[in-house]
Amino acid sequence: MKKFIPKLIDKSLIGLNLDEFFVDADVVLRCHKLFAKMSSETPQYTIDPKTSRMQFEITKDMEDLSYFIPKDEIQNILDNSAERLHRLITPCIEFQIEKGSQHIIPPYFYTDDITSQIFNVNIENITNTIKYFENKKLNLPPIYPAIHLPKNILTNETALRYVISSYTDKNIAPYIKGFYIMIDGLKCDKSDEEELAGYLKLLRSLFGYDVRMVSLDAFGYAGLLIGASTLISGLAQQEYTSINNWSKSTTRGRGQEYTYMPEIFAYLSEIELESINYKCSCNQCNKQLPHTASEKKKHFYHCRVRDLENISDTDFHKGLAKLNNLYSQGLITAKKFITEELTLRKSSDIVSPIKRWLTVLTQAEDIYNLPQAEEELEKLLLELDEHV
Ligand SMILES: [Zn+2]
Repeated sequence: MKKFIPKLIDKSLIGLNLDEFFVDADVVLRCHKLFAKMSSETPQYTIDPKTSRMQFEITKDMEDLSYFIPKDEIQNILDNSAERLHRLITPCIEFQIEKGSQHIIPPYFYTDDITSQIFNVNIENITNTIKYFENKKLNLPPIYPAIHLPKNILTNETALRYVISSYTDKNIAPYIKGFYIMIDGLKCDKSDEEELAGYLKLLRSLFGYDVRMVSLDAFGYAGLLIGASTLISGLAQQEYTSINNWSKSTTRGRGQEYTYMPEIFAYLSEIELESINYKCSCNQCNKQLPHTASEKKKHFYHCRVRDLENISDTDFHKGLAKLNNLYSQGLITAKKFITEELTLRKSSDIVSPIKRWLTVLTQAEDIYNLPQAEEELEKLLLELDEHV
């Protein structure tokens, strides 16, 4: 079953009866009472150690993390593997174990250069995480590396291949159960078809692993169709990830007056929704409009879950047809909003994204067949080898 997992950011997850949530390490500290409540009530959760954030402006709670490395000491940590093990890797793993995280995410840094020291250190951190468990003679918990790279990687086939082969190297592959994919700057409502198709190729290339998409909007449904198991995001927030937002001066988030409209996978203002007498039929709203911030977030959650129920299918082709239908209906509704002037939002904001998603879906079958195509190519090369 494909899943939507919300991020624990505030109290809005209370009462949703979740079976799983995702949470940043600094939130675990900042909202320790909320975390204690949620973690005792929820069967499973994973903590993102958020180590890449230490390269940028940090939140004030990050300094209290046992594995916190000040920005000006990061280069030293990258250069010195013994110190890295002692100050970063070991305490980071132990923090996750102690807090009961179901998956262990080895510490990771952000880089836009796959030939860089940072990229290699990220792979080494995975190796060292495996060694930690072997040395301690502890049962290996599922290790789920985070792949945190910029979106330009998605359109560079050579780079993408290198990333995939590095993260699925035969020395670490047997210990890795899955991945958390964080593509920086990938805003699916703004991204072009090439980027979006590249993203799906990345997901598909990790075939055989439990692939989890972090911070994505409703284009994530296409990722679930292609092979990812899980879509993770905040409720009506944090639907994309950007290092540019990691600075104190930037204000984040959408204004309170906006409400998610699931029919078009976008946000409209309350005034617009009231003027068309919009009623939501999700489990939260019960034919009303959500008003408070908490109601709007719960509404978002129920809309995501409902969509997933509607499009999930064990058969790829049936799933594709269902998703095509969902996006097509969305396109019709979004166009209607523009032509009947029911919104102040532009066609480029609410119509074009869905159009692009539908275009990418026309490539979905080819992308879905990628692992098979690779296998056939390998077989062919092997046969050629034998004949030479
Ligand atoms: Zn609703």
